[in-house]
Amino acid sequence: MLDMKHPLRLESYVCGAWRAGTGSPKPLRDAATGAVVAEIDSTGLDFAETLAYGRAAGAQLRAMKLHDRALMLKALGLRLMEQKDAFHALSLATGATPKDGQIDIEGGIGTLLNYASKARRELPNTRMLTDGVVEPLSKDASFSAQHILSPLRGVAVHINAFNFPIWGMLEKLAPNLLAGMPAIVKPASQTAYLTELMVRRIIETGLLPEGSLQLVCGGVGDLLDHVTGQDVVTFTGSARTGQMLRAHPAIIGNSTRFTMEADSLNACILGPDATSDSPEFDLFIREVVREVTAKAGQKCTAIRRVIIPRAQADAVRAALDAKLGAISVGLPNDPTTRMGALASLDQREDVRRAIAALASEAEIIFGNPQSVQVTTGDPEAGAFLNPVLLYADQPMRAQAIHDVEAFGPVATLMPYDDLGQAAELAALGKGSLVSSLFTNAPDVAEDVVLGLAPFHGRVMIGNRDSAKSSTGHGSPLPMLVHGGPGRAGGGEELGGMRGMHHYMQRTAIQGAPRLLAAVTGRWLDGAEARADTHPFRKSLAKLRIGDQLITEKREITLEDIEHFAGFTGDTFYAHMNEDAARANPFFEGRVAHGYLIVSFAAGLFVQPDPGPVLANYGIDNLRFLTPVYPGDRLGVQLTCKDINPRAEGDYGEVRWDCQVSKADGEVVALYDVLTMVAKTWPA
Ligand code: NDP
Repeated sequence: MLDMKHPLRLESYVCGAWRAGTGSPKPLRDAATGAVVAEIDSTGLDFAETLAYGRAAGAQLRAMKLHDRALMLKALGLRLMEQKDAFHALSLATGATPKDGQIDIEGGIGTLLNYASKARRELPNTRMLTDGVVEPLSKDASFSAQHILSPLRGVAVHINAFNFPIWGMLEKLAPNLLAGMPAIVKPASQTAYLTELMVRRIIETGLLPEGSLQLVCGGVGDLLDHVTGQDVVTFTGSARTGQMLRAHPAIIGNSTRFTMEADSLNACILGPDATSDSPEFDLFIREVVREVTAKAGQKCTAIRRVIIPRAQADAVRAALDAKLGAISVGLPNDPTTRMGALASLDQREDVRRAIAALASEAEIIFGNPQSVQVTTGDPEAGAFLNPVLLYADQPMRAQAIHDVEAFGPVATLMPYDDLGQAAELAALGKGSLVSSLFTNAPDVAEDVVLGLAPFHGRVMIGNRDSAKSSTGHGSPLPMLVHGGPGRAGGGEELGGMRGMHHYMQRTAIQGAPRLLAAVTGRWLDGAEARADTHPFRKSLAKLRIGDQLITEKREITLEDIEHFAGFTGDTFYAHMNEDAARANPFFEGRVAHGYLIVSFAAGLFVQPDPGPVLANYGIDNLRFLTPVYPGDRLGVQLTCKDINPRAEGDYGEVRWDCQVSKADGEVVALYDVLTMVAKTWPA
């Protein structure tokens, strides 16, 4: 693929410098031609020093606010996207076609960008996060508790797999850097040249604080001996290696967080309603073919087990034969190639061994793993393999087909006799990353999905309605959890902002509200408040948490209720009919509308003149606590709870604690009012 007279000598980026190993390097070969692409070696690196250097760099990341970290990821993603052609050119050497390369390259950079924008939308612009609600621990509001999340003080060590040299790095880095923790990436040797190229480009941008990203090309030597309880180790690869690393004495001894994503025998189930004349049948066939052949089946989410109604076995087999027969295998840069090469000749031998193990229980019904047919390229020098399909007639009694992961273009068909058996077969995989179900029947969806869910991190339902918009079985998405229980490693990655939590410590903080507010930067009931100027007259430059307004009281009359009912059309009986309202177990007569109370509250607290408050963009956590009757007098206590200036833009979000009470102090409604406020006023 690459015209390289001199193979690239890969370097590691540690302790602020690019360093080559001092031992004899191992050659890395182009997957499709066998030519040496690069050489790798990490001998001589001081891993204790590397960890210490990373830990020290954490201070700079932690000093940044969350929105600044998110903007850093955005800028990085945009710069990397500009250079994607260079990554694509090198990606061909991994055996990936340009389409496969998109999953890795654009998919990886897209994950960075997605985290960058989601974080700015969903998270406050702070250095730590609050988690859940304030828990009052005393009747007089003098002792309360709040959970917080703060970044760990160590380094995240990411040990990655060969199949996604870019996405595999970036999907872990995005939540990791956002959380405020530095990282050391150790790519799988086989495809480390592509990761190394991207890390070079990342470091060149100068966008990351120095030390927040280090790279080890080659073995990690004694690195794991030096991890502490503040470090995190993540692993993607084979279950065997993962289990060995998880049992490392330093990881066990220090309770170092260890996240593992390993082999997974993902299933795709055809519902009994999806007969061969249904759109779901065609969608199912298309999905299976795509998942068996994309990245030559080297995806952790690829479909390995195809679970079908016994009555459909012949139809499924015929449809798959026809589609798989049309898959041309050849050089990744040949435009007629539908499927490229496996990552290496060793990997091909592994897959052949796995097929032989599967064939002890299942019959090969399509393809011949020993005979390779290519349209371009050398079938012996390149790690090519045509798709292989097996059929296991009695899958409930078989073992290897639920145990052995052939990490290539290989799947096994398994018929089920009743619907309960379909989910049971999937569960025999002992925990998978993802399974999918193709059905148009709601009862089938309910039965099967509830059967699958405890064994999976993600379940996708495919049918005619989502055919055009579906993101597919095999695509992990930044906003959805990626990981699976049991055999899949028991880990969890991504999942939107949940992904950051692996790099943060959750701590319950207990104390007097005034001191809790100082810790979290968020006002809570019982903390200090001050009422001077109307807080809506204060720009972000002047506004402080605890700034408060206590309004006049306003009486609610029967006329108000009738006017509101007539004006809005809300003539629900509890507001209009005295007898019917009395018959209701909650009311003693006609009551005011909840939305009338909220509207009157706004009328009481608003400051009408043009000022720094730009807009009201919502209400959170609205609860009505007690009914309001004609004659009740209501007042509002509005307190500035949370101030989040945007890192970019001349305004920020302000959250106000709003309590509406009766004259005797009984609280009627509680909610947060959300507003946008200018940073300065006059602007
Ligand atoms: P490995 O488990 O051998 O390697 C995964 C990662 O672990 C690589 O970065 C590897 O580095 C590293 N590693 C290996 N040994 C050690 C060690 N002693 N200490 C620290 N790090 C170590 O998996 P492979 O990449 O070789 O793939 C083998 C099989 O794993 C595949 O055939 C497939 O079945 C499965 N796999 C599953 C994936 C999934 O996501 N479900 C993804 C990829 C593979 P190095 O490359 O330098 O040895």
